[in-house]
Amino acid sequence: MANELILIVEDNDKNLKLLRDVLGAKGYDTIESITAEEGIELAGQQHPALILMDIQLPGIDGLTALRQLRADPGTEGIPVIAVTASAMPTDRRRILDAGFDGYITKPISVKEFLVEIRNTLDKNSRKEDS
Ligand code: MN
Repeated sequence: MANELILIVEDNDKNLKLLRDVLGAKGYDTIESITAEEGIELAGQQHPALILMDIQLPGIDGLTALRQLRADPGTEGIPVIAVTASAMPTDRRRILDAGFDGYITKPISVKEFLVEIRNTLDKNSRKEDS
């Protein structure tokens, strides 16, 4: 399915631009916010097919935001991929244990990033079909 809507929550201008440009070039529609608080609100209003969530954000962090999204019936089913600079194995464990659907490390490898997005969207649409 083309033109799926993806919400990007990222407070770094350069990363936000990169994610927006790469997704746009692939035909995805994007909406964005620089805080988790605003991102949670947007997710509830627009119900994106996928959320890319930075972990370190100015207000509440990405882990807390994920918990809030999962606690709300309106957003609990939206897959959320963590986007973070931390590549330490313990951090990776902590992020996956928190319930994220995937994990992308910065600096972003465009090819791997797009594969992760596609796989996560496909996995979730199969889940909704069954
Ligand atoms: Mn950040």
